[in-house]
Amino acid sequence: MSQAKIIINVSEETHSHSNGLSGTFVVLGKKAGEDCAMLVVMPTPEIQDIGDQRKTVHWPKPSLIARDVVGLTSDAAAHTAGSTGSKEKWGLLLCESEPDVPKELLAAYEEEIAFLNDNPPDHKTRQDKATGARVMVNVEPVEVTEKKIALSARVQELKQKFEKECRKLVQKSEIQKAKENLAREDARLVAEGDTIWAGPEAGRANINEIHKRACRRLGQERPWCYVPQSLWACPGCGTMIKENVITCGHCGAIFDEDPALYAKMTPKQKAMSLYPERYAESVPVGGQGKAKQS
Ligand SMILES: [Zn+2]
Repeated sequence: MSQAKIIINVSEETHSHSNGLSGTFVVLGKKAGEDCAMLVVMPTPEIQDIGDQRKTVHWPKPSLIARDVVGLTSDAAAHTAGSTGSKEKWGLLLCESEPDVPKELLAAYEEEIAFLNDNPPDHKTRQDKATGARVMVNVEPVEVTEKKIALSARVQELKQKFEKECRKLVQKSEIQKAKENLAREDARLVAEGDTIWAGPEAGRANINEIHKRACRRLGQERPWCYVPQSLWACPGCGTMIKENVITCGHCGAIFDEDPALYAKMTPKQKAMSLYPERYAESVPVGGQGKAKQS
């Protein structure tokens, strides 16, 4: 009952799941430099309204909630070979380990729930002097507000500590498996995009953001997937070209220097630096010109 489950995400997309009773679970996308993002699913109360102002509270197993978040319990997952209905193909994976939630954390969590239930917002309606509107103001005592903040901070602190421990339990093989699932689906999506592109032109609108994201993740270039690139003007001819190239395809300029330096050069220096072959012979000519002037 007090075991948590770990869900990892190896893609940069955030996935959220709501089931109506136990709330919304968000698996964040991984950040740059991270192997994976992680959601620790803790025991969570499900509050059900059974009518006549009565409520019941269930504590479903975190393993059940976690399976639901990853989509392993969906009809599509159950009835289709290879669990295609689950979110595993998008880089989510339910890890094997079931770490025990520290008693301290459970106690802090239960204390917070009990206190919040005992102290619901205490409000009063007032006429707002400035606008004349009837407004609700919370008039709970300051001590109650402070206690709510303190209890919440304690839960957060213990939870972060626990999550750090959970991260160590994620197996390398699990991250690898999640990456393979994601790459397999990405390859399928790119192939699907290609097929649509090759078909009737009207159908091309069916290539959507999901295809394009898959294409970008695999580092593929496709006519149907525009990859924004920063361009800069060739200092020689002004054509817009890709950054970090060594020559300009239009005028043949060679970029030997730091791009910022070209702006500081005289036209002659720039020409000699950009087109060394063309001006190789003219160095003495330049020298003579100088001699004539002086
Ligand atoms: Zn150029």
